[in-house]
Amino acid sequence: MNPYNNGEHVCSPLRFLLKGISAGDFSSQEVIDHYKSRIEKFNQKLGAFLFLNPSDSFEDGSLKGIPIGLKDNLVTKDMPTTCASKILKGYIPPYDAHVVSRLRSSGAWFPGKLNMDEFAMGSSNEYSAFSPVRNPWNLDCVPGGSSGGSAASVAAGLVPAALGSDTGGSIRQPASFCGVTGLKPTYGRVSRYGLIAFASSLDQIGTFTRTAEDAALLLSIISGHDQKDSTSANVDLPDFSAQLTGNIKGLKIGLPKEYFSTGLSDEVESAVKKAVTDLEKEGAVVEEVSLPHSKYAVAVYYLVATAEASSNLARFDGMRYGLRVEDGALIPTYEKTRGTGFGAEVKRRIMLGTYALSAGYYDAFYKKALQVRTLIQRDFISAFEKFDIIAAPTTPTTAFKLGENLSDPLTMYLQDIYTISANLAGLPAISIPCGFSKENLPIGLQMIGKPFAESEILKAADAYQRITDWHLRRPREFDE
Ligand code: GLN
Repeated sequence: MNPYNNGEHVCSPLRFLLKGISAGDFSSQEVIDHYKSRIEKFNQKLGAFLFLNPSDSFEDGSLKGIPIGLKDNLVTKDMPTTCASKILKGYIPPYDAHVVSRLRSSGAWFPGKLNMDEFAMGSSNEYSAFSPVRNPWNLDCVPGGSSGGSAASVAAGLVPAALGSDTGGSIRQPASFCGVTGLKPTYGRVSRYGLIAFASSLDQIGTFTRTAEDAALLLSIISGHDQKDSTSANVDLPDFSAQLTGNIKGLKIGLPKEYFSTGLSDEVESAVKKAVTDLEKEGAVVEEVSLPHSKYAVAVYYLVATAEASSNLARFDGMRYGLRVEDGALIPTYEKTRGTGFGAEVKRRIMLGTYALSAGYYDAFYKKALQVRTLIQRDFISAFEKFDIIAAPTTPTTAFKLGENLSDPLTMYLQDIYTISANLAGLPAISIPCGFSKENLPIGLQMIGKPFAESEILKAADAYQRITDWHLRRPREFDE
């Protein structure tokens, strides 16, 4: 059984495993054992899993025990959930997140919980309170963040697929750095019930897979209306897999000129442009488009996201979850618990957000940010009058070295320059491998779609994967 080299061109591990189990080529237990032995062999090197599930049991369902990795900000009733923070160390939630119960009742097996930047704040996974994660393509490099454990585990074949969350790029950026397919659905497509909130108006759960075909399969299981999330959208659920026809004739692709300017590495630029040319050869029509307010996206994001985070993280006070550092009276206990439990980046964000929301500054910062957010949304609305999809780089560079950006939070924040607009506008977006740098590090192509048009970006991604083989490449050290 080799889910990564099975003779099919697109070669989707989830699909391959499902077919193989149904045909009796191998059993569910053999699949579980295969991945367990890879985790045992490689996890220490990568630091991808924070917790390993001691039980092999799974429910009866269409996924037949196939392993799905879970980012550690998705609550699980039988496994600890820490958000890679000391403040939640040892916390075992009393319930499953909506996506977890969907997967569980569909017969998924959960191998464990995946490392991340603390509370999903970061772009390199170095802000995990427990350990960094390493990039399977080069162990001296970061896997990206905040869903670095999810991306690295899929890239190294420790799981065939995983879930992550994306508030400003945390699925697409690590997917790009690790050479896998990362999908952030439309805001509201997937219920956030049981996703520990970072910035509630931006957070969205999505998938890490090797191919668009597998992303469509997994998305159809986790998406749909949920009454327990008031922002969950009650909209039709298309058959995502059925839309993957390979036919993109006439698809109108806009290339935002603001995304191809200073700061973008030459290698990334030429790989992305080549990918767009390949799509053109398949019949897509490509033209330049302008998203004039893009230059404000990073500033707007770091006001909105920190403001919401400062409010969401107020609940971690030592009374309700995880860590408590007693210090006599109530207020000193809050202070000691939060002072000890949160890491430096989380504290930085809480302070920034509290400041932006404080009386006297609210209008100048938070309110202004919301106004500019609307302008960014309008840029997309007008671009989508003419185009079906916006194509762009996912990140300005390939993966950087561990430690390289740690002392400079601003450079770290610029990692998200091409990804955060989709969150501010609530749009679906995908990152797929489209090349490699001279140093053999993966490059990602990002495609952003209209609201609830996941099918469209999945179709374009799948069409691209039918004619290229970047998604088939595997990091040497982790090959079978
Ligand atoms: N890197 C961004 C941040 O640090 C995005 C994080 C995310 O999407 N969760 O906020």
